[in-house]
Amino acid sequence: MSDLSGQPDLTPWKVGLRGRCPRCGEGHLFKGFLTIADRCDHCGLDFDFADPADGPAFFVLCFACLPAMFLAVWIEVSFEPPFWVHIFTSLPALLISCILPLRPLKGWLVASQFRHKAAEGQIDRGAGDDAARD
Ligand SMILES: [Zn+2]
Repeated sequence: MSDLSGQPDLTPWKVGLRGRCPRCGEGHLFKGFLTIADRCDHCGLDFDFADPADGPAFFVLCFACLPAMFLAVWIEVSFEPPFWVHIFTSLPALLISCILPLRPLKGWLVASQFRHKAAEGQIDRGAGDDAARD
């Protein structure tokens, strides 16, 4: 668990969805739409640990983009509209469903990383030597 002594108990989804610092819940996590700030502007937490990689894109693809794509296919199959109808129906549905959830999902994943101290795996060579001696 993270060292949260003296800090409020913040759940990752609460601070992540608001784009706030996972330690203090006050500072801004992002300095752009999806760019993570270098550190918290309130408590100074270094955000170098934050690396959600393709996580936000994966969740958006599975839970938002595919339903929007099915909407486009349904419109095409059911009504066989002219192409320009998709510009005003399918395209906005795809853009909104793919772009809007990215920031809250990225914030949630970064806050979860902080909460659970998730990091890239490392080989503990010292532990292997100790086990070999036993
Ligand atoms: Zn902070």
